[in-house]
Amino acid sequence: PIYFDNHATTQVDPRVVEAMLPTFTQTYGNPSSVGHLFGEEANQLVESSQQSIAAVIGAEASEIVFTSGATESNNLAIGGILSQRRRRGNHVVTVTTEHKAVLDPLEQWEHQGFEITRLSPRQAGQPLAGMLDAEQVREAIRPDTALVSVMLANNEIGVIHPVAEIGKICKEQGVLLHCDATQAVGNLPVDVERLGVDLMSFSAHKMYGPKGIGGLYVRKRHPRVRLQPAIFGGGQQRGIRSGTLNVPGIVGLAEAVRLSLAEMDRESQRLAELRQRLWSGLNERITGLQLNGPELAVAGARLAGNLNFAVEKVDGEALMMNVREIAVSSGSACTSANPQPSHVLRAIGLSEDLTRSSLRFGIGRFNTAEEVDIAVDVVSRAVDKLRKLIA
Ligand code: PMP
Repeated sequence: PIYFDNHATTQVDPRVVEAMLPTFTQTYGNPSSVGHLFGEEANQLVESSQQSIAAVIGAEASEIVFTSGATESNNLAIGGILSQRRRRGNHVVTVTTEHKAVLDPLEQWEHQGFEITRLSPRQAGQPLAGMLDAEQVREAIRPDTALVSVMLANNEIGVIHPVAEIGKICKEQGVLLHCDATQAVGNLPVDVERLGVDLMSFSAHKMYGPKGIGGLYVRKRHPRVRLQPAIFGGGQQRGIRSGTLNVPGIVGLAEAVRLSLAEMDRESQRLAELRQRLWSGLNERITGLQLNGPELAVAGARLAGNLNFAVEKVDGEALMMNVREIAVSSGSACTSANPQPSHVLRAIGLSEDLTRSSLRFGIGRFNTAEEVDIAVDVVSRAVDKLRKLIA
């Protein structure tokens, strides 16, 4: 099968593997072992990786905490703020279309007595479907709001929220802003100053790096950003996240970030062209396709490699079974053992049927125009076949 599921995860770029290899067999010291050369070497690798990642997102090296990925980063950011002395209050603002790695921790805090406002973005059928309006955040903030959490780019419909505007509002109101930038870092220019975020999550395996390593940006020069650790132990990473550092992962993350930035302009252009080829090709051969998320032509509204659409009048499960030659995601988010209809598509107003008969393409670095043409063919043939069956 041809891989088109790059929002779920990506192939590790061979150049990233190359950069990581020496850390397994040569520079394998524990970066905390400062008493000898092995430890010092490993520590230098960590520091230089931290510096290069920080430089790309406009941060300082000491503002990056390494984690096991974005799920942990989100949990750490949310829990680290909410578990502190509740000086300001017990209210949090977020969006219905956030990833479960934000929604589920917040639900846990809700059980602990926090009040969560979940804002609803623009509904399907509008040009900017799925996008939050920054003014909604302004209206939702109250004197007791402790945290706002809004993602930068959505993992299902690719919509890019106006986080820079939201950041300005949060700053004006003196509220901390966490941003899940997992799908954005590596695909878009991301700068913590321009965005005005205080905490920001990212993950290597979404940008052609290895799984099990990610980061959390934690703004330093802010009196209220003092995170309560979630993991205690040897006191690594200023005590925020103890545990021996994952040096291979950290080196891989830094190389993945570096490569993505170096190739970003050219690559996003290429991905947008491939996506256009896919969407035009599909529409030439299939009737009754509905684009999910913002219109493709609106500049800056959507990740370049993302396409998500519903196929009218086919059964979602049957559709998935008939497109096995390509690896795509269905509108049933397989976030757990039992596939549930995507909460994101439901939140922008799709019916359960249309949600189930939706397909998500994540076009990535290793996809080609030939592969896109095959995908058009596979999907068109599947839809034809299924519609003939019911006709
Ligand atoms: N947030 C978003 C927006 C994501 O797309 C993902 C991955 N599906 C995560 C968080 C979780 O990331 P990780 O797999 O690194 O824990």
